[in-house]
Amino acid sequence: MPAFSELATGVRRIVAPNPSMMTGPGTNTYLFGADDIAVLDPGPAIDSHLDDIVDKAGAPIRWILVTHTHPDHSPGAAALARATGAELLGIPAPDGQHQDKSFVPTRIPADGDVLQTGEFGLEAVHTPGHASNHVCYRHTALHWLFTGDHVIDGSTVVIDPPDGNMQHYIESLRRVKDLQCNALVPGHGELIEDPERIIDWIIEHRMQREAKLVAAIEANPNLTTHELVPHVYKDVDPKLYGWAERSLLAHVLKLEADGCAARRDERWALI
Ligand SMILES: [Zn+2]
Repeated sequence: MPAFSELATGVRRIVAPNPSMMTGPGTNTYLFGADDIAVLDPGPAIDSHLDDIVDKAGAPIRWILVTHTHPDHSPGAAALARATGAELLGIPAPDGQHQDKSFVPTRIPADGDVLQTGEFGLEAVHTPGHASNHVCYRHTALHWLFTGDHVIDGSTVVIDPPDGNMQHYIESLRRVKDLQCNALVPGHGELIEDPERIIDWIIEHRMQREAKLVAAIEANPNLTTHELVPHVYKDVDPKLYGWAERSLLAHVLKLEADGCAARRDERWALI
């Protein structure tokens, strides 16, 4: 994946130098506009990356938007705002682990709010699920949705309770599908040209996992989430069981919310 690309007139992407198993090639930072620049997801606070953003912008950075406050998306925002005087847009970090508390927005976009400049419009689309404060942004002229970690290219995202919520995640996916955008532009990986197909695939994949979980609880009632993991994630490398257990917990909490499962002493049974 190239470190820098122009995806459309006035839409540029810089890949942050933070590749890993969880971030793929790295976090995508997007620049909008030519005369007055908006930056989406400046990524981690890596000096060389922040210098690169200012350099490539080539014009005043007026706005910095974030999709959510996980450590690979927003920590660069505070330093970039200090260096440029830009306004910070996004929803503050909720309590809990893996949250960037240094992100303090000057403007909290309500669902449907549009940042309208002379060159482009970006509409906030609230999409809780991967994170409770997750916001996607729709480029109104291109009808492209910048999806952060709501939908990423080539992989599924982690839903880590309690801030991550599987029920909300599926609802937000359906909401994005209904927008019928021309493309999804993710926080990791390449632009996705067939939004409907990929969203159907993600929902289908999650529902299959839920069905495996239901079958596993039915066959082995009164196990903990830890004990259920090998029954539900037979296809997954045991090295990833830690993350799998978080995801399994998200699924079983959804079953509980749906009234399909209940727990006693953290041991699960179907209702
Ligand atoms: Zn995230």
